[in-house]
Amino acid sequence: MSSQVRDARSGSRPRPPRTRTPIVDQHATWIAVNPVQGCPMACVHCFLNERGQTAVRSEQFATPVETVNLLTASQFYEPSRPVALYTWTDVMALPASRAHLAELLGVLADRQFTNPLVLITKCHVPDETVETIAAARRLGLRVIVYLSYSGLGRDIERGIRHEAIADNFPRLAEADIPVVHYWRPAFPESANPEKMERVIALASRFARCTVAAGLKVERAPVARLAEVWPELAETPGVAEAEGVYPRPFWDFIHRTWQQYPGYPLFHTNSCALAYVFAQADRFGVFRSTTCRTRNNCPTAQRNRCTVAAMHRASPGAEQVRAALEQRGLAGVRFSLTADGQELVIHAAVATSITAALTQDLGVRVKAARQDADAYWSSGTAGAVPLVLG
Ligand code: SF4
Repeated sequence: MSSQVRDARSGSRPRPPRTRTPIVDQHATWIAVNPVQGCPMACVHCFLNERGQTAVRSEQFATPVETVNLLTASQFYEPSRPVALYTWTDVMALPASRAHLAELLGVLADRQFTNPLVLITKCHVPDETVETIAAARRLGLRVIVYLSYSGLGRDIERGIRHEAIADNFPRLAEADIPVVHYWRPAFPESANPEKMERVIALASRFARCTVAAGLKVERAPVARLAEVWPELAETPGVAEAEGVYPRPFWDFIHRTWQQYPGYPLFHTNSCALAYVFAQADRFGVFRSTTCRTRNNCPTAQRNRCTVAAMHRASPGAEQVRAALEQRGLAGVRFSLTADGQELVIHAAVATSITAALTQDLGVRVKAARQDADAYWSSGTAGAVPLVLG
């Protein structure tokens, strides 16, 4: 697609050329697997806009068998690590993508995959796909579905039928498919009490928990995003933040425990996955500020993390050196905090490597960001939230 092609959302802005992502890559929490890339929808907040991958037909780059082979051959692969499938499209949007998913789940089931598997969608999940996922779970696959539902209007989430997302919640829950409610991002438009109350009321009935996060802002789309949220253009640091939050949304999501005390709400995907899969934290979040003061985490889950931490020794310098060497960082300078919970690498490191090291060592990892990094600032790697208003 030529860079001269005009973006459908703005008559004056050229559409960026269509770029691809590796079929297997490590993101902050999960290994992202992308055999199908490109989305027919065009949500304003989507990172695919700057990659020329919105309002396009999806392209398939690997068959399901090739995809699984690439996944298991990846340096990031471990059988216990979470894997998110199809993060560069909405897999539920098109019949061809859903067919790819059905076949992929079949291959994964044949090979008895044990990884937590995450599907993320804001489209209608047809009945036959609900049954495909339920059948895969009966065969032992640990598949869960993140339903992205944020109360945004069609002016921002173009092409999305919001009543269809709402309708997914009870249908997936009835099929015994664990649902995580993905509440991100919020714009000032959606950060009003009535809309936020409607969103959490539905999610808390059918989902296992909510993950609430702010808007991820890269440098390139600031002007475009400022058309719907002008403060973004006037505020320094939006692109370095872990996420940008309208003040009313920030206040609301930190108070849901008052109205929904038994319903977990997390600000970290890794904790939501730990909770849903009944595992302890392995991302160095335990006892951090996010753990102690932001995540509304149930007592049983807190106990699980506490017991695991009591039995786990912090990594020593030798172990860190070996892990760095294995990730191609032999000889880089580093320091460990006194409590052994945080590793600081004194060098620029790709976000994918930082995220892998977090799981290799079970500690928070901070490093300087590489200028050419294709991945946005991550809370796992030490970026902090920015609240506007
Ligand atoms: S106890 Fe803390 S680290 Fe563990 S899952 Fe809950 S919020 Fe996350």
